Amino acid sequence: MTLYDQLYYDGSWHGAKGARRDLVNPDTELVSGILQMATDEDCAKAVASARKAFASGWGRSSLADRKAALLRIIKQLEMRADALAECISNEIGAPIEFARTGQVAAGLAHLHATVTALDSLSDDHPLTTHPDHRIRYEPLGVAALITPWNWPLNQVALKLAGALAAGCTMVLKPSELASRTALILAEAMDAADLPAGVFNLITGDGAVGANLIAQPDVDIVSFTGSTATGRFIAAEAAERMTRTTLELGGKSANILFEDCDVHTAIQQGLAHCFRNAGQSCNAASRMLVAREIYDDAVQLAATLAAKTQVNRPDQSGAHIGPQISDAQYIRVQNYIETGLHQGAKLIAGGSGRPTHLAQGYYTQPTVFADVTPEMTLFREEIFGPVLTMTPFDSEAEAIALANASSYGLAGFIQTADLQRADRVAQALRVGMVQINGQSREDGAPFGGRGLSGYGREAGIWGIRAFQDIKSISGAALA
Ligand code: NAD
Repeated sequence: MTLYDQLYYDGSWHGAKGARRDLVNPDTELVSGILQMATDEDCAKAVASARKAFASGWGRSSLADRKAALLRIIKQLEMRADALAECISNEIGAPIEFARTGQVAAGLAHLHATVTALDSLSDDHPLTTHPDHRIRYEPLGVAALITPWNWPLNQVALKLAGALAAGCTMVLKPSELASRTALILAEAMDAADLPAGVFNLITGDGAVGANLIAQPDVDIVSFTGSTATGRFIAAEAAERMTRTTLELGGKSANILFEDCDVHTAIQQGLAHCFRNAGQSCNAASRMLVAREIYDDAVQLAATLAAKTQVNRPDQSGAHIGPQISDAQYIRVQNYIETGLHQGAKLIAGGSGRPTHLAQGYYTQPTVFADVTPEMTLFREEIFGPVLTMTPFDSEAEAIALANASSYGLAGFIQTADLQRADRVAQALRVGMVQINGQSREDGAPFGGRGLSGYGREAGIWGIRAFQDIKSISGAALA
C-alpha cells in the first residue's frame, strides 16, 4: 500500500507528520493508498516559506519573469500529461480518455490562456485625466489556494496561474480526495525551477484547510468547493478582512426555446449535465423547455439518456464513470429517491447501480420530467448525473424559472433567434452564459453570483483577483 506523505515547501520535500486517511478507489471501492496529512506546524512552515519568497523577490518580479515561469511550468506539466491523466482517472474514476482530453487538457489550456493574458497586461497605468497620477496593480502577497476533487488539475491550474502571474506566492491545499494529482503537479513545479517558496503544497482534509486560512500571514484565500465550506471561509476571512474569492456550487438552467434544434439541444444538454458523472459546478442540470416542444423533448431525452454509457475508468470510448466516493453515491441516490417521493416523473435511469456494474460508486444517468420549482431536485445541487426537465409558456417565465435559484453560476440558451438569445442572456442572474452550444473560451472569466460565490478566475480577471490597486499621485510614469 503506497503511503503519500510528502509535502512541498521552501523548495524541497518534507515528510508530513499529521493524521493518516485511507484513499479509496471509486471503481473498486478498495483502499488504494494512504494519505498522511499536514500538521499545524507543517502549515505554518509552508506559509512562512511563501512569505519569505514573496518578500525576498517574487513580489517584485517582472511580468516577463512570471511569464517565463509559467512557460516552464507548462512544459513540465506537458511532460507529465499521461501520468496526470492516469492519476486523475484512478483517483476520481474519470474515464481515461476524458481524463486526458477533458481534465488535463483543460488545466493546460488555462495556463496557456494566462500566458496570453499576461501579454496584454501592464501593472502600471497613468490616470488619463491627470498624467502625474499613476495606478499600480500590486500582488496581494501570500495566497492560500484550496481546491475540490472534481477537476483536480484544472481547478489548481486556474488558481496557480492567476496567483503566479499576479506576483503572489502560494500554498496549495488540494482536496483530500484528489491529492495525488496535486503531488504530481508539485513535482512539475519543483522541476520548473521557481525560486524556493513561490509554490508550496500541503495535503490534508478540511481541518488542515481551516488551519491554513487561519494563518496570519495569508493575504488572500482563493477557494473552490461547496457553498457550505465557502460560507465558513468567508466568515473566517472577515475577522482579518482577508481577501477571498469563492467559486462555489451551481444549479444551472439550460433554456430550450421552441425554435431551437431540439435533437442537438437535448443531446448536448444531456452530455453537459452528465459529463464527469454530473460532478461539475457548472453542469446544465435544470432543463427548461418551451411547452410547444416539451413532449417531444421529454421523449427524446428518455431515449438519448438511456443510450448514455456508464463504464469503468480504464475502458476506452465515450462513457461516464462513478461518483467520487461512497458518500457522494449515497447523496445522489437519496436525491433520486426524493424526486420519486415528491412526484417528479422518472423517464430514464433511477435508483441503484447500472446492472452491469456490481461494484463501484456508479449511478444510472437519470432524467426526471415535470419537475416543479418547489421540488428539491429543482433547487439543490445534486452533483451527480441527474437532469430535471420543466416546461415554460413564455420567455418571461423561462427567465423567471432560470433565476428561481439561490445559485447563479452559468446559464445556457438554445434558440434560432439571436436577438432573443441576447435579451435572455442579459436577464439571467449568472456569471456565465453559453448560447447554442458555444463553448466557453479559456481566457474568459469563470465565476458566479449568489450562492455560487464571488470573484472571477481565468484570463486577466484571474490575475487581477490576486492583486490590489494602488493610486500614486505626483509621480508620472517615465
Ligand atoms: P468541499 O467544500 O467539501 O471541499 C473543498 C475543499 O475545501 C477541499 O480541499 C476541502 O478539504 C476543503 N475544506 C473543507 N472544509 C474546510 C474548512 N472548514 N476550511 C477550509 N477548507 C476546507 O467541496 P468538495 O466536495 O470537494 O467539492 C464539491 C463542491 O465544489 C460542489 O459544491 C461544487 O459545485 C463545487 N465546485 C465549484 C466550482 C466552481 O468553480 N464554482 C468548481 C468545482 C466544484
